[in-house]
Amino acid sequence: MADCIFCKIANKEIPSTVVYEDEQVIAFKDLEPQAPVHVLVIPKTHVQSVAELGAEQKELMGHLFCEVLPKLAKDLGVDEKGFRVVANTGADGGQTVGHLHFHLLGGRSMQWPPG
Ligand code: AMP
Ligand code: ZN
Repeated sequence: MADCIFCKIANKEIPSTVVYEDEQVIAFKDLEPQAPVHVLVIPKTHVQSVAELGAEQKELMGHLFCEVLPKLAKDLGVDEKGFRVVANTGADGGQTVGHLHFHLLGGRSMQWPPG
């Protein structure tokens, strides 16, 4: 999608520090890390947010959640101590980039509730 910063990252039009990539998904370090481990996992195809997900993305989301996220957590060394996966969605959810992304945060103890 034109003018989408994460589409541009997926297409390598904007540089990022990629930590994982396959045909469907790319994961890269967040520019403003909120934890020692903070990466963003995104589908390469443009989807606005969790609110726009549907049957069309079932296989993609299964891949992202059941294969990519657990592997990444292991590779980044946070699988044993724990980590957090967050998808800010829409205005009240605090979403600032309109391309579906999952924050994978770890390497420190997380608090609850979030602000
Ligand atoms: P959200 O507020 O949930 O939409 O998260 C957007 C995230 O994208 C924030 O944590 C930003 O720091 C991050 N971000 C924005 N631009 C870039 C970029 N060019 N490369 C890496 N992370 C970015
Ligand atoms: Zn996009």
